[in-house]
Amino acid sequence: MKPLALLAGVAVAIAAAGASAQQYPTKPVTIVVPFAAGGPTDTVARSVGQAMEKALGNNVVVENKAGAGGTIGVSDVAKAPADGYRILVHHIGMATAPALYRKLPFDPLKDLEFIGLINDVPMTLLVRPTLNVGSVKELVAYAKANKDKVTLANAGLGAASHLCGLLFQQAIEVDMTTVPYKGTAPAITDLIGGQVDILCDQTTNTTEQIKGGKVKALALTAPKRLDALKDIPTSAEAGLPGFELSIWHGMYAPKGTPRPVLDKLVASLQAALRDPALNKRFADLGAVTVAPNLQTPEALGRHLKAEIDKWTPIIRKAGVYAD
Ligand code: ASP
Repeated sequence: MKPLALLAGVAVAIAAAGASAQQYPTKPVTIVVPFAAGGPTDTVARSVGQAMEKALGNNVVVENKAGAGGTIGVSDVAKAPADGYRILVHHIGMATAPALYRKLPFDPLKDLEFIGLINDVPMTLLVRPTLNVGSVKELVAYAKANKDKVTLANAGLGAASHLCGLLFQQAIEVDMTTVPYKGTAPAITDLIGGQVDILCDQTTNTTEQIKGGKVKALALTAPKRLDALKDIPTSAEAGLPGFELSIWHGMYAPKGTPRPVLDKLVASLQAALRDPALNKRFADLGAVTVAPNLQTPEALGRHLKAEIDKWTPIIRKAGVYAD
């Protein structure tokens, strides 16, 4: 092809890409959730996705890409075409993975575009219903007396439940046998069934199980009690001051997603987070929507960097690694 014809071809291709970015989305958008269906991250993503549909003008579907504490799902989106049709909802695990994984296949700060922060959710310290303890104090005594057999479930290395379990073990100075799952949904099923003893997980999915009497909740990892779970003491009230953890969620797109597409995603996320029905759903599950000034790409980028800086030394000190 002659150089001029080549240039014209490139110009046509760029114009076509620009035009399709303007028309975005012309087909459903997929949100990848890096944990199993039916868990807290899944609940946040499905609720937000549904609330974004109106502003986006198309359907949003959720795909669960679970495994390796959420890192498989992140890699999937980092490698996806940068066209806005495959995006990600993930939590604090994005900030803890760099310290936990020796060979992380992505750089959280460089390989993704930021869309915005979504919400903050506290965790609950749960035990199986048949475990004969009624308070954190009794659980600590039980764990110390049964070091060799007590088990702690989590959603994989790098999951929020893993981080919470790490902090709990540090707080009570007992090392437990951890049992990894692909998400909270299978972990809580086994907790209810009595196959594991302890799980610390987001109220987004534990609230209903606690209210239904399926699991026993001993503490909330927040400084204040939750309206949705008034009877559950804070960790300080339960005798573990400092055992506090709030799980934040953010939305991401593959690096290089065109600006008009990103702008549409940001505006749609912000519209969703103004939706009273979504806010009521979050509140019922103990989740708090972030302030409007945090529902932006800049705020998510800043927060992620600050959280990596905060958690890296704590995890390094704990000496936990995945290969
Ligand atoms: N709550 C889980 C975690 O520990 C993940 C999930 O299933 O959403 O990170």
